[in-house]
Amino acid sequence: MKSEVRKVAVIGAGIMGGGIAQVCAQSGLQTNVHDSVSTALQKVSGNIKRTLSILAEGGLIDAKEIGNVLERIRIVPSLDDAAKDVDVVIEAVVEDISVKRSIFSKLDSLCGKETILASNTSSFSINEIASATRLQDRVVGMHWWNPPYLMPLVEVVKAERTSQQTVEATRDFAMKLGKEPVVCKDSPGFLGVRLQAALVIEATKMLDEGLASIEDIDSAVRMSLGFRLPVIGPFQTMDLGGLDTFLYAYDYLWKKLGERFRFPEFVRNKVRDGNLGIKTRKGFYQYSEESASSLVKRRDQWLMSKAREFQLERGANATS
Ligand code: NAD
Repeated sequence: MKSEVRKVAVIGAGIMGGGIAQVCAQSGLQTNVHDSVSTALQKVSGNIKRTLSILAEGGLIDAKEIGNVLERIRIVPSLDDAAKDVDVVIEAVVEDISVKRSIFSKLDSLCGKETILASNTSSFSINEIASATRLQDRVVGMHWWNPPYLMPLVEVVKAERTSQQTVEATRDFAMKLGKEPVVCKDSPGFLGVRLQAALVIEATKMLDEGLASIEDIDSAVRMSLGFRLPVIGPFQTMDLGGLDTFLYAYDYLWKKLGERFRFPEFVRNKVRDGNLGIKTRKGFYQYSEESASSLVKRRDQWLMSKAREFQLERGANATS
C-alpha cells in the first residue's frame, strides 16, 4: 500500500462520481474520471465547474483555484487507461451488483498490487464485490454521502478479507480529502443508511397510523433531535439525558409498540450497575468534571447559534 496517495481514478461520472472526483482534485490529486457512457463523460467537467463556482460564491473555496482544480481532472474513456498507475480507484457506477463485480474483476488485473480498490456502493455487500477479485485484502467500502463535496462523512467498510493496512490507508486518504472517516464492518446499510432507515421507516409508520401530518412529522424531527444531532450523537444524547431515564421511557415503548424498541441487554446492565451517563460520570463514555462541562458547553453553543438562526427565520417569516 502506497504511503501517500497522489493519483486516483473515479469510475462512474454520475451524481456521486462527479462529486467525488471534484473533492479529490480539490485536494491536489491527479484525478482520472471514467464512465462507460460518453454523454456522462461529456457532462462531468461542466457539472464540476458549476459546483466549484457555487462553492466559491459561498466562500468555501477561492474562485482563482477553480482552473487549477479542473486541470487536475482527466476525462478517460477507457477503463484500462483510467485505472493504470493510480494509487486508489473509487468505483461509483450504477447500483447494480453484476456491473460492480465485473468492474472489480477487471481492476484486479489493471491495477498494481498496492492500489486500493474502493466501492461507493450504498447497499451491496463489500464481501460480495471483493469476491470478484483475487487480491481481496485491498478491497474496501468507501461510502460517501451526497453531495460529496459538502457532506463530511465517509464510511470505510471493512470486508472479511480487507487488510487492516487497507483500512488504515483508506481512512488516512479520506482525512487527507478533508473528510470525517468512520470505520465499520460490512453489514447492510453500514452505519448511516441503517440509522437513517430506522428514522425514515418510523416516520412513514406514524403517517400510516394517522398520528400527524407529513409536515408536522418533518418539523418534529427538524426541531428536536435534528436540531441537536450535528453536535451530539445518540450515545452522547443518552449520556446527557441519563441512561435510566431513556430505559424507563423506551421500555414503555417496547411494551406498547413492540420489539424494535427494546434496548439490548448491555444497556440494562449499565443502568443496573449505576452507569447512568454524565450524572454519574460514566455511561457510554467516561467523563471528568472538565470533559462533562465541555460537552454541555459545546452542545449549548451549537444550540444557541441554531436558536439565533431560527429566531431570524421566524422574524423574516413574520414580516413577510
Ligand atoms: P448515477 O446514476 O448518477 O451515476 C452512475 C454512473 O455510472 C452513470 O453515469 C453511468 O453511466 C455509470 N456507469 C454505469 N455502468 C458503468 C460501467 N460499466 N462502467 C462505468 N460507468 C458506468 O448514480 P450515483 O447516484 O452517482 O450512484 C453511484 C453509486 O454511488 C451507487 O453505487 C450508489 O448506490 C452510490 N451512492 C449514491 C448516493 C446518492 O445519494 N445518489 C449516495 C451514496 C452512495
